[in-house]
Formats: sequence, structure tokens, C-alpha cells
Amino acid sequence: MKPILQLLTISALLCSHAFAAPNILVILADDVGWGDAGCYGGTLVKTPHIDRLAREGLRFENGYASAAVCTPTRYSLITGQYSWRQNGAGLNKGVSNGEAPLLIPTTMVTAPGLLKDAGYRTALIGKWHLGFGETKPDYNGELKPGPLEIGFHEFFGIPATNDRIPTVFVRNHRVQGLDPADPIHISYDKTVAKSQGLSTWAAGRNRIGWGKGGKAAWWKDTEISDTLTRECVQFIERSKDQRFFLLYAPHNVHAPAIPGPRFAGTSGLTPRADMLQELDASIGELLQTLDRLGLAKDTLILYSSDNGAYLNDEKGHRPTGPFRGKKSQLWEGGVRVPFIVRWPARIQPGVSTDLVSTLDMPATICAAAGITPPKEALPDSHNLLADRDAPKRDHLVLMSGNGDLAIRSGHMKYIPDLALADGWYGAGKKKAGSAARPALYDLSKDPGEKENLIEQRPAEAKRLAEQLAKDQSSPVTRPE
Ligand code: CA
Repeated sequence: MKPILQLLTISALLCSHAFAAPNILVILADDVGWGDAGCYGGTLVKTPHIDRLAREGLRFENGYASAAVCTPTRYSLITGQYSWRQNGAGLNKGVSNGEAPLLIPTTMVTAPGLLKDAGYRTALIGKWHLGFGETKPDYNGELKPGPLEIGFHEFFGIPATNDRIPTVFVRNHRVQGLDPADPIHISYDKTVAKSQGLSTWAAGRNRIGWGKGGKAAWWKDTEISDTLTRECVQFIERSKDQRFFLLYAPHNVHAPAIPGPRFAGTSGLTPRADMLQELDASIGELLQTLDRLGLAKDTLILYSSDNGAYLNDEKGHRPTGPFRGKKSQLWEGGVRVPFIVRWPARIQPGVSTDLVSTLDMPATICAAAGITPPKEALPDSHNLLADRDAPKRDHLVLMSGNGDLAIRSGHMKYIPDLALADGWYGAGKKKAGSAARPALYDLSKDPGEKENLIEQRPAEAKRLAEQLAKDQSSPVTRPE
């Protein structure tokens, strides 16, 4: 019999019986759009394992990345705070490069740190993109402070992105496989790079940034997904007898789109679509590992993406679904992402229209683990597993790749200046000294953000503008 999908709030879907603290697996895909998987309406790309997660879990229609680009969303997922807060941490525009220092202060209370203190075995496997070191990373020595200093027992993965130098894996504090006779030199300053004879060429193609050396440690792009998947499986296997928290951050489907040989050409569409099927298979392997070890029922899985897709059409496939815009932009296509939660022991399968964000994952996983964070910690993160009568998230601030903000409240969305809505793709649209052109959209009737209601509904626009200003000046924004 087919399960009956329910359009209910998550609190109505929580089983009421007592439950044990679960294992926690967060899967944060890279640049995967709302419409990419079959369970969100995609028909051309095959995603049976993501679809299984949705079928067995709770799929959110109104899930958001807290920003339209990688680094700030990843920052928020660990710290439970908006990256644009001016508190000496985070990033109020853009993304980190391969030369950036650690963005998260080691004194900050983080979700992995709270789980670690509560006895969980914690690991981050995949893309980091939040910097190393106090002033800059030392790729030839100890990469410290880094993930291990903000709450993870273990780290294996990519320092920044798959298109940025250095193209090496880091295990805990060290570059894996580095030959000391061929040290790594990198720079993100063109003048410095030129004077030191550094090149954009690394691991077989041109990248962002400049470097030389470290060749023995270079990854092969075609093997990244398999390598990260294998590391995740091994972590789960060796942690199976204790509670664990695994943050798996695949590089799929970030550009350059280079699928492994088992997936190249399998979608019949594009290398990015092939990479999406590779991501799906990787998730399938993790699900199968949990099944094989008898851990599935007591493992809470949260699946989402760090920002929207970077394109709207791939030979008929619509990565951004019905939405306008793409990665880095304030339009829904930049920030609306897939969001699925599966926890067989506690959450009934269904579909929810609740407003949720990757920003809410820290409070949610801590609550699932039975942890009460200190009051000042995770200030913008809302527990999605809160009781039926607890306050719900009724609005969410969204950030573009350029650091411009917008707000969604209920089903309304307010963008303070249309000239800034296009993020990285909007260069030159904002003329110096020109007045802001605000916009208001009703997403329940106009998901494609085509009809600007600013003239018709000025009071509504004013209310959202005031809420945005209030959140920008408030130290805490979670619903309380
Ligand atoms: Ca991304």
C-alpha cells in the first residue's frame, strides 16, 4: 500500500513515544537545486536514493539555504547563526578562498562541539570551505586551527572547493600524501603569484587561485566522490557502537562537473546531471551501510544543499524547478533548496509546507541528541522537532553572494533593492547614488517572482522591511 502523504506541520508528524538519542547524518550537497531530484518533480535525472529518503522521511517544500553561496551557508550550519552578523566571525559577502584563515572562532559554541561534549563521535567528511589557521593555512605543516578545533574529532576532505587551489585532500591537520621535497606554495594575489611563478594549473586543469608544488598529493577529479563516500562508510562502520554525528559534504554537483567513469554519460544530459546521479548513488551507499549495520531506524538524516543550482536548464531538466534565478542570487532559485529529514524511529513520512532552513539544522540535531545549548549559542537556529505548541519559524533572512539581504515572512518575500537581486550576475545594475527599487512577491501565488506587489501592498512591504531591520540588529532571531 502506498503511504499517504500528509501536508502537515512537522510537529503533527512526530511520534509521541519516547525515543533514544539517534545517530546523526547531515548530507549537505553542493549547488544542488530545488528541482534536481525526482521527489521534487525532476523527471530526466534519476535519483532513486534521494527519492527513497523523501518517501521514508519528511520532505519540505519550503526549505532554504541560509545564503545563496557555499561558505556562509556552511558557517551557519555549524554555528547556528547568520553569517552576516558583524561579531568578528562569519562572512558578510562572497566565499572563502584556499588561503583564508578559519572563519569560526575556536571559542564559539558550535553544534559539532555540543555533540562532541555530549559523547558523540563527530566527523566532517567532504568540503570544508571555512579556512584554516589563525592568519592563513600552512599546507606544508599543521592546518590548525580548523575543523578539529571547532568540534569535530575527525576531518577528511577538500580545503575549499573542487575548483580552487590547492587540489589536495586534508586528513585531520595534514595534507594527505604530501611529499616534503615538493612543498605547496599558493596565493590568491595575482601580483604575488606572478612574482613567485605560481600557476592556475593544478591536477589536470585550470583552477581559481595560483599555486605550485604538492603534486604527489593532487586528487583526481573523477575519484573525489568515490573517495569521500568510502571515507563516510568507513567512519560509520568504525563508529557503529557509539552515537555518531557525520556531516557529509559532497562536492557534487559543484563545477567543474567531472563525474567518475561509472557515471559519465549515464544521464544522457550533461556532466552536471551525471554528477547528480553520482551524488544519488553515494547517498544510496550510505543508506545501504546504515541498513546493513542495523542503524537506519535510530539514525536522523537531514539532506539539503548549500545553495541553489547555478543554471536553470539542462536540456529540459530544470535544476531550479519553477523558481526564478540561480546560485548567488536573492531569487528563489538561489536559495530554495531540497530539504528532507528522515528518522524512522520518530518522524512519520510526509510532506511539509513549514518554512525551514539549513540554519535550523544545529538546533534540531542538538535537540534530537537531548542537548540543551547555552542560551547565547545557536542564536538564529530553530529546532524543527519542537513540540506542537512551541513557537514556529515564521520568517527567514536570505543572503546573496554579494552579501545583500532579503526576507521571507509567511508566504511573502521582500527584496529591498531589485538592482541587487542578481548577486554575482548583477554587476553594474546598481548605479551609484540611485534610489533602491524594492519588491514584494506572494510566493503562494507567484513562485516565479514575476509580479512585484510593492505598489499594491505597501503596508505588507513596510512590515517585512521592518522585520528585516529588526533581525539585523537583534543578537537572537530564533522563534522564542
Ligand atoms: Ca555551493
